[in-house]
Amino acid sequence: MIGITARLTLCAFTLLSTASYAKDTVRAPYVPDSGSIALRCGLLIDGIGDAAIPDRLVLIRDGRIASISPGKSRVPASTKRLDLSAYTCLPGLIDTHTHITDHAGETRDLSIYYKRSIDEERRISRTNAEITLFAGFTTVRNVGAYSGWSGRDIRDHINAGQVAGPRVQTAGFYLTIPGGGGDLVIPGIPEENIPFHVRMGVARGADAFRKKAEAAVAGGADVLKIIASGAVLAYGGIPGSPEMTPEEIAAVVEVGHAAGIKVTAHAHGAQSIKESILAGADSIEHASLADDEAIALAAERQVAFSMDVYNGDYIATVGREQGWPEEFLRKNDETVDVQREVFKKAYKAGVPIIYGTDSAVYPHGDNALQFAIMVGLGMAPMDAIKTSTSVAAEYIGWQDDVGAIEHGRFGDLIAVKGNPLEDITVLQKVSVVVKGGLVFKMPAEASN
Ligand SMILES: [Zn+2]
Repeated sequence: MIGITARLTLCAFTLLSTASYAKDTVRAPYVPDSGSIALRCGLLIDGIGDAAIPDRLVLIRDGRIASISPGKSRVPASTKRLDLSAYTCLPGLIDTHTHITDHAGETRDLSIYYKRSIDEERRISRTNAEITLFAGFTTVRNVGAYSGWSGRDIRDHINAGQVAGPRVQTAGFYLTIPGGGGDLVIPGIPEENIPFHVRMGVARGADAFRKKAEAAVAGGADVLKIIASGAVLAYGGIPGSPEMTPEEIAAVVEVGHAAGIKVTAHAHGAQSIKESILAGADSIEHASLADDEAIALAAERQVAFSMDVYNGDYIATVGREQGWPEEFLRKNDETVDVQREVFKKAYKAGVPIIYGTDSAVYPHGDNALQFAIMVGLGMAPMDAIKTSTSVAAEYIGWQDDVGAIEHGRFGDLIAVKGNPLEDITVLQKVSVVVKGGLVFKMPAEASN
């Protein structure tokens, strides 16, 4: 821990150079988000209600939503206006499962994490943060990183107004057993050659996990992430088989809840899903091999499932093209179709579903591709939108601030051409991004 934090503080800040994807956009200066603006929306989906409302005026004052009124309402003369009457407005989207410090494609050779410099890590994080924001995701939960505190680093830089990016909640390091799904051991590489900073959350036994969880909280994590059972994209282990014991999970949950933060459990297998729920975890990631009992338990306790029902296709095609390790591809094949069946059952059973893309497995910025798969699996478009707005906000504990266009919450809003309730794929092309009342992205024709 000492090594990496010392290195972080030595680096000076430089702002990102302009990236090609942002050519047609207007950017706000990189200052903490507290703008005031009036937005006239042709159609408004507020993230909470069951219907879209035509012609609404959203007034954001000093970064927060001050009022929502009929489109022709008066606004103070000094307030900047943006005419989005040809657009549908929605709350800024929330992705509850990203790895904002990681670069897609690194799965091919995980040893890159042993060698990567802190400067390179920062460059990747900043680019990802900006791409994610421009894709319309104004809030993300960064559910861990191999490199101990890289997620906290980018979060703090965004909050300080030094980098353009989404609001970030971050887990710090993975809490995992030795050789577990979050432990960066690679066959053929002796343990003594592995840098300490990629194994900061490795523990065994309830007491050791408690100490690691306390270290994560003390270091600035605002969510805790446990690897309860085996991972697809890790060496050794079986996705369905439990790794952490119920006592170990409970020890982490106790620390997280005492600190007022959520605990999310990576769990593919039915047994570890049930054990995580019973130990008090707030959400389950992947949940691909949940059985009927696990689904019923999640529904009863209202524990959310965060399931990326898109990334399996990416891994199966691009992963294969790029020559990812055969073991990862096989474990992916074993979990993709069954996960989609679980998704359908969980949705029907009333398990809260939260939008999580596992981005970094595939490129950042493609976060919205999953909506179409969810709707294709039978989810109502409005419910799919809520997984990434009000429901996601509740499960990351930020329901007072994000996830809805509602008085008092942050002025985070996106706009798209077309109606996502009729065609969910319009969310893949977000035209306007406002965060905290500041316009980060808008098409040229709306800028007068
Ligand atoms: Zn992940």
